[in-house]
Amino acid sequence: MSEPLVPRMRSFGETIFAEMSARAAATGSINLGQGFPDTDGPPAMLATAIEAIRSGGNQYPPGPGLPELREAVAAQRRERYGLEYDPAEEVFVTVGATEGVAAAVLALAGPGDEVIVFEPYYDSYAATIALAGAERRPVTLRPDGGRFTFDPAELRAAVTPRTKLILVNSPHNPAGTVFTRGELRAIADVCAEHDLTAVTDEVYEYLTFDGAEHIPLATLEGMRERTVTVSSVGKTFSVTGWKTGWVTAPAPYVRAVRTVKQFLTYATGGPWQRAAAYGLRNELAWVEELRASLQAKRDRLVGGLEAAGFTAYRPQGTYFVQADIRPLGFTDGIELARALPEKAGVVAIPTQVFYDNAEAGAHFVRFAFCKRDEVIDDAVERLRGLA
Ligand SMILES: *Cc1c(COP(=O)(O)O)cnc(C)c1O
Repeated sequence: MSEPLVPRMRSFGETIFAEMSARAAATGSINLGQGFPDTDGPPAMLATAIEAIRSGGNQYPPGPGLPELREAVAAQRRERYGLEYDPAEEVFVTVGATEGVAAAVLALAGPGDEVIVFEPYYDSYAATIALAGAERRPVTLRPDGGRFTFDPAELRAAVTPRTKLILVNSPHNPAGTVFTRGELRAIADVCAEHDLTAVTDEVYEYLTFDGAEHIPLATLEGMRERTVTVSSVGKTFSVTGWKTGWVTAPAPYVRAVRTVKQFLTYATGGPWQRAAAYGLRNELAWVEELRASLQAKRDRLVGGLEAAGFTAYRPQGTYFVQADIRPLGFTDGIELARALPEKAGVVAIPTQVFYDNAEAGAHFVRFAFCKRDEVIDDAVERLRGLA
């Protein structure tokens, strides 16, 4: 049979996560590849989802989302960031942040348009831009003083007359960077100068460390009116399987996103929405405990990676550490990641697959630390034999 997959999707066949998780299973390795927690979310929030199912909340919810969740999201944006969004017209519920970003990109960019992304980028962005028939223009995040950042001149140079969107992810997976106000100002200036829309992925908005402040791009002067903000429950409440997220944006953007989303999935699972509203209203103290525990796990993993001989970049947020493999005598992260399960019994993700400029990311692998302490300790012990 000839290849049935449309040409624009052919380079997205096998995700690195499937390959690495298969290797983890086959070798009995510790999987620090995929970023999902191995402990559960807040018990009362879980109970709210169960109760929603028991009490008959099992038919189609409204397409834009349950009013109680849209109101809880509007309250969260107001109380945490001072951002005002009308829950009826400017808040919209999606099947996770993944669908929020996808619906936004599909609604706002098409064939002939270009979308700027910061690389290494979250893997769904590249595929989503391809689905839209648009082209991605990468701006590379590079280590500078212990954290990854971009050169504003490179950002400016990436803009062409065809640029429509800038996709921004802060806190950034996998670089761990929380963009500063200055970095965000540089992005905002480019958006204003070239009349671009920003789509921001803020799924790690609560998971920042050492006092690093998450600043939504929409809070910068002139940006609320041109920013589509996306977040979700998965990372904040350790319920990555719930796939419940939301978009906040001015009404014309929400209408555009809705037009696409209604034919992708129409609505988002009702019981999860009810529980998400509960979580946003009642479980932020639990989230603060999660944040503090992740900060300690980060230090545990970074210390272990350093002891094993890696140069580890201590992230300001997210679940992930970028590790430079060159001090151990390796140069190709893909080769090392493929060998690591056999060599050490640990699985990591070669960050190179999230770059267009492969040489910028060739020597990095990504380790997740959203795991129980004993799992991190065991992995670190195994990695010690590597040098
Ligand atoms: C995990 C993750 C997502 C996916 O969020 P869902 O709500 O599960 O769809 C999106 N963006 C980034 C950067 C992530 O790390």
